[in-house]
Amino acid sequence: MKVYMKEVILSTKKRMEVIKITEHVNQAVKESGISDGVVIVHAPHATVAILINEFEPRLTEDYVEWVRKYVPVGVGWKHDEIDDNAYAHIASAIIGPSRIIPLSRGRLLLGTWQDIMLLELDGPRSMRRIVIQVMGN
Ligand code: ZN
Repeated sequence: MKVYMKEVILSTKKRMEVIKITEHVNQAVKESGISDGVVIVHAPHATVAILINEFEPRLTEDYVEWVRKYVPVGVGWKHDEIDDNAYAHIASAIIGPSRIIPLSRGRLLLGTWQDIMLLELDGPRSMRRIVIQVMGN
């Protein structure tokens, strides 16, 4: 089994936004030379999440709206006393900072309407790291 790892650094522009990263993952797969196995996409941060779903402009606004609705800002979270971003930690913890995608014959097994996205929850930030690990043969 071979292992290939790549780190991609992105900057974000808004407090909350969705950035498509599928191309970065495809590029890492290409560079790895691995054709069958798994790909792990991981963001080593406490206030972002990785999503896999459709990247459609209104829907990406809906992902953000979902966070606003279900993990509201400033409703007495204890962490806000020190950092004012409890909602971002909670959404990241619940949604999750990583995803696993099967790799078969050199292709990510994503559906037609599936893209890989970074969900920024506490931006803007100049250095958001994404670790892409490709494992297999
Ligand atoms: Zn915090």
